[in-house]
Amino acid sequence: MPEIFIDGKSIQAERDQTVMQAALAHNVPIPYFCYHPSLSIAGNCRICAVQVEGRSWVEIACNMPVSEGLRVLTDSEQVRAYRKELMQLVTLNHPVDCGICDKAGECTLQDYHYQYNGSPSVSNEPKVRSTKFHPLSERIVLDNERCILCSRCVRFTKEISKSNALGITQRGDTSLVRAAEDHPLDDDPYSDNVIDICPVGALLSRPFLYKARVWYLKPTPSVCPGCARGCTIQIWHRKSEWKLNALDPRKNVSIERITPLENPAVNGPWICNKGRDLAQIFERPRAEQAMQKGKSVDLPAAIAAAGRLIGDAKRPVALVSSWGSNEELAAFKQALGGRFAAFVKEDWVPQPGERLDDDLLIRADKNPNTAAARALFPALADAAFTLDDATDLVLIWGEGFDFSRLPARARTIVLDAYAQPEHQGADVFIPVSIQTERRGHYTNFQGVVSAFEPCFPKKPTVADAETLFAAMVATGVPA
Ligand code: SF4
Ligand code: SF4
Repeated sequence: MPEIFIDGKSIQAERDQTVMQAALAHNVPIPYFCYHPSLSIAGNCRICAVQVEGRSWVEIACNMPVSEGLRVLTDSEQVRAYRKELMQLVTLNHPVDCGICDKAGECTLQDYHYQYNGSPSVSNEPKVRSTKFHPLSERIVLDNERCILCSRCVRFTKEISKSNALGITQRGDTSLVRAAEDHPLDDDPYSDNVIDICPVGALLSRPFLYKARVWYLKPTPSVCPGCARGCTIQIWHRKSEWKLNALDPRKNVSIERITPLENPAVNGPWICNKGRDLAQIFERPRAEQAMQKGKSVDLPAAIAAAGRLIGDAKRPVALVSSWGSNEELAAFKQALGGRFAAFVKEDWVPQPGERLDDDLLIRADKNPNTAAARALFPALADAAFTLDDATDLVLIWGEGFDFSRLPARARTIVLDAYAQPEHQGADVFIPVSIQTERRGHYTNFQGVVSAFEPCFPKKPTVADAETLFAAMVATGVPA
């Protein structure tokens, strides 16, 4: 472990680290645009330059290997003067349109300008104009005037998603990031990570474009239920102090965007585009009214009716949700596991055109908690799946069940969060909460347990499955 000195402070570095890596590992701030811990070193932005003690020039820290006794300065007069000039260069052609830029509030160019430059441009030349709103893909637009040519996006598609979908054409101040004609960015299911890693507001998400200022939003840690990987994510929604009372109050309980939350044990710093589109799953029309044979009843009456059906049943079968949390699954097992023959069903199957699986993140199982569910109950073998005619009660928890498979004389208890016409025919239908309304955990295919937190309130007419099963037993099932 080589000992190096940063600004006179002793640091034990790893043998194969760069000065940048050693500094960041010890919370020593060094600015960077093109450096990214998960990408190869490009060394093109030059802002990370430091001064080796005794030398009269500066050198980039991202590509400087550590060596025993190395002494560097990150804040010498020479480094400060260099960074100021470099920021003048980087902002030379950059538009001053932070007021309308989606990256404002999260932009390192903006932050570094105030930290390391702070002066107006010294140039009298007009800025070089370039393409605005260039359509890189169905999901991403590019503002070439804001691009500082760090090449992070290009390296991401080459090294991480391996789509090779982006490149840089031309030279100097006419350089342009462009999509490769034979590798469309639309075909890259990880494309939107380039929006996060773009250090400026050049790469913009079409769904999020001009939708919200980030300082009005709050991220809630969560888990993507889109497949068995269970990527750690942040669900961004409006802060309560910025609640809208008159102007479109639905936005107070809407998902504004989803970004990855770095988790080395699960997804690193990335997620796939399906994870970004979770609003399309979570914000489908909800089921919010308990029913008996299609007739609205209040929630306690529906719970008691379900309990009575369970108490009367001789051969009950339960189809357990692979979207249930660890806590909900355990609650089901404890309250009703002894009364039902329970099987785990697949709530979601791959959709047409969806990538099935790959070597990066995406898994073929499109459910978040199959591992935990199958640790408690056997899987429902789908192809051979038939419910015995002697089955007199079927409890269907979650989505993905083909109601035409129900035995003719079986009674039904259905628990679902989303509205479906089949709910009308259930003997008892109970609406349940979704992940964004409760706290819980999922266990991914590798056995890693991840937590999710609530971001929105649950309606009082909707049940929480974690307490529902015990309530059925308490109110309806004879002891
Ligand atoms: S678009 Fe963004 S990530 Fe890509 S090169 Fe330009 S500044 Fe870097
Ligand atoms: S890889 Fe799976 S869990 Fe991760 S973001 Fe994509 S769908 Fe969600």
